[in-house]
Amino acid sequence: MSRILLIEDEERIARVLQLELEHEGYEVHTRADGRSGLNAALNESEWELILLDVMLPELSGLEVLRRIRQANATVPIILLTARDAVPDRVSGLDQGANDYVTKPFATIELLARIRSLLRQRSLQDQSAEQPHLLKVDDLTMDLKSRAVTREGSPIELTPTEFDLLRFLIQHQDEVMSREQIISEVWGYDFVGDTNVVDVYIRYLRQKVDKPFSSKLIQTIRGIGYLLKVETSSSKEADDSAGESNPKDGQTPS
Ligand code: CA
Repeated sequence: MSRILLIEDEERIARVLQLELEHEGYEVHTRADGRSGLNAALNESEWELILLDVMLPELSGLEVLRRIRQANATVPIILLTARDAVPDRVSGLDQGANDYVTKPFATIELLARIRSLLRQRSLQDQSAEQPHLLKVDDLTMDLKSRAVTREGSPIELTPTEFDLLRFLIQHQDEVMSREQIISEVWGYDFVGDTNVVDVYIRYLRQKVDKPFSSKLIQTIRGIGYLLKVETSSSKEADDSAGESNPKDGQTPS
């Protein structure tokens, strides 16, 4: 059960939120002023998440936030701010709040933001615990066992395909030129045509992208390749530059 600390001085809001959150299965502890909130945040427990009102007696929410981050605590924090308090939101985000909702907020929206932050956190924890696992979207690459899966199905890669995929994943969202790929994957002493990259990208696509609904490997014409998670807006662009083009995989120049 995720433990949530709610620091909120308005009793009615605190009571309603606590009930709603408990209904969703969270364990909720409330504090009604900045000082005891800060103390609870830093000393009382391991919190999965903190909901922090900005207008609080004794210590303001922003001061509480500042001191929590000063203490190097990385717990996700959502600020509860007044509708017209734009400067509060800005300085809150600058000081390390992960998100905010403005009052009066719909509980359903707050719940969605809580779930999203907790999900991000658990993914981060996972990769911290398993540094030998690379994950992109539904693709997993185990650097120890060299096992690769997508949507849970195993994918057989040759050693060069594996190294190429690993290189692209490690440079996710960066466009990589053929020359960069050659020197990192094949080695600086590689002698030959950089077209070998296009050939291997084609092999990789056959195995990693083609059988699945979304494409990870994108061609950047005239430059090289890019591995990124496809969003619905990037899908269209990829359709015109991707597998459907018969020239794809040859040197774009
Ligand atoms: Ca308040």
